[in-house]
Amino acid sequence: MDKRFAPEHPTPLSRTLVEYELCLSLEWLCRLRWIAGAGVILATWLARLGLGLELAVTPLTLIGVSILAYNVVFVRWLNRLTCDLSGANVSARIQARTQIAADWIAITLLIHYSGGIESLAILYFFFHIILATILLSAREAYLFAGLAIVLLGGLAGAEYRGWIPHIAVGGLLPAPLYARPLYVGSALAFFASAVIGSVYLATRTTDRLRKREAEIVALSRDLQRAYNRLHMLYESAQAVNSTLELQEVLDRLTRSTAEVLGVKACTIRLLEAGGQSLCLASSYGLRDAYFQKGCLLVDQNPLVREVLAGKVVAVDDIAGDARLQYPEAALSEGIRSMLTAPLIGHGGPLGIIRVYCDRPRCFNEDDQQYLATVASHGSIALENALAYAALRDLDATKRKFILTVTHELRSPVGVVRSLLRTLAGGYAGVLTDVQADMIARALRRTDFLQTLIDDLLDLAAGKAGLHIEEAAQPINLNQLVARVVERYIVPAEEKHLTLQLQLPDVPLHILGVAEQLDRAFNNLISNAVKYTPAGGRVLVRLQEMEMQAQCTISDTGIGIPEEAQAHLFEEFYRAPNAKAQVKEGTGLGLVITKDILTRYNCTIRVKSGLGEGTTFTVTCPLIPAEQFPKELPD
Ligand code: ATP
Ligand code: MG
Repeated sequence: MDKRFAPEHPTPLSRTLVEYELCLSLEWLCRLRWIAGAGVILATWLARLGLGLELAVTPLTLIGVSILAYNVVFVRWLNRLTCDLSGANVSARIQARTQIAADWIAITLLIHYSGGIESLAILYFFFHIILATILLSAREAYLFAGLAIVLLGGLAGAEYRGWIPHIAVGGLLPAPLYARPLYVGSALAFFASAVIGSVYLATRTTDRLRKREAEIVALSRDLQRAYNRLHMLYESAQAVNSTLELQEVLDRLTRSTAEVLGVKACTIRLLEAGGQSLCLASSYGLRDAYFQKGCLLVDQNPLVREVLAGKVVAVDDIAGDARLQYPEAALSEGIRSMLTAPLIGHGGPLGIIRVYCDRPRCFNEDDQQYLATVASHGSIALENALAYAALRDLDATKRKFILTVTHELRSPVGVVRSLLRTLAGGYAGVLTDVQADMIARALRRTDFLQTLIDDLLDLAAGKAGLHIEEAAQPINLNQLVARVVERYIVPAEEKHLTLQLQLPDVPLHILGVAEQLDRAFNNLISNAVKYTPAGGRVLVRLQEMEMQAQCTISDTGIGIPEEAQAHLFEEFYRAPNAKAQVKEGTGLGLVITKDILTRYNCTIRVKSGLGEGTTFTVTCPLIPAEQFPKELPD
């Protein structure tokens, strides 16, 4: 049971509500008492002076004054009281009973001094009877009603017997009635039946209202609890779904489930060995020693079989449950009860999620439902993570395959190329024009094949993480870019292109591997030269921009159609206009370029329009000058 949701006190809700209401009503009762006290004094003097009745003015005035006086005490007492719905309002209960008891004594005295059984003040009892039924429980209302009957009966009896004097109101009744047994008997009988009848009717109504009120409060508590859990479920789902890494998904799921349920620990076990064993995949809150027992064997564990069949199973007390495989280990870890739910994917059970509590009988139906919900959303996250891991494995396998195949192709192609070159050079005999032309064409095609193999090798090696990890070191980007541009001076001249280079005055340094960065910039500059027709211009500019090195490679070439721009970094993609104008090309250059650049936290973006030329912008983080030694390797 979640401690946060445990009942705040053991008292039944209906009783708590009565007491809370009672606590709130005490102030109102005190306010009414000011009117009652003043009313007694006023009515006495009005009856005496206005109506000329012979009354026991002094005792009656004293009763009025006493009511006001004890009310002062009650008001002071009340100021020290705080009412709340969660705690037991013991002090309020005592105050209420004391106040009602004091009032009933005052009414009895009032009745005595205003004619005993003949007094019309008897009717005032009913105010208090109604008050008692509103404020107190039905049982207490009957108790006070009985007390009223006893008080009045005792008073009438004592006066009748002459134990106490009868104080009549002179001028009100033609003859004294207190000594007539028939009158006294019937007045008491009517009083008693009216009092009991009133309490009966009033308590029936208040009981019903209180039950409703208790239901509403219980419902609103349930609602609040459900809301809290939903909120926590949402937060846990968000945490779990915000990653695709299997281990992270599992760890987040165990931690958030234990926290939300407020329990000692949570574990996830996944099915292994063809569904024969359940091995630990993540745990939260348990010591490593607990898991030394190893995997749970499905065919030896009836409990997990039940869970894997789709049921949420609670073990209320570890000590007395024969379904467990290792009860001693659990007990020595301080576990007393546990709840297990299945993790079920599309293809069947994936494993189990289990929560552990250090008290017996810890979990209720709500907890079972909650764990079932966590398990079902956890299963989805788990499946996604498993699918992601499988995809990654597949991708790695695919790239390894490409790598192996291309690697195996490389050497025969190399041999064919060198043989063709030997033939073309005439070292194997003089060639006819037709033969020379055919061999030149064959050479061009094998050159292309060689580039394709190199690109594929680069790509597969880079993405599969199989490239030999050379440590990144500070690179002088000015020198690197200048070297690449130099490589294209002759090809640019042959194509009648203007090739320009603009470098900053200070050297810009970034972290990377020179050979790889060379390849990336080479691809970009070769594209610019390749896709710019004769008479065009290619400008390579390196500059510092907000603590970054920015290199733009712009040309006045054929441009890239807008719809093609989204696909530029896809493997083997070539825009239709490029394919139409330049036959050779694999569509791998930019993929390799981006792959290399992202390795060194660089970004690449393109701006182009069909027939308007293209600008590629590469931005790399600069190494601050103070972070590298004065003499740098180039
Ligand atoms: P290779 O793999 O041999 O470099 P490629 O040049 O066709 O072949 P990428 O370098 O990856 O392949 O370029 C992909 C496509 O992007 C090109 O086919 C072309 O459509 C377009 N592209 C790249 N750079 C430019 C540019 N400077 N001007 C116009 N189109 C370009
Ligand atoms: Mg290219």
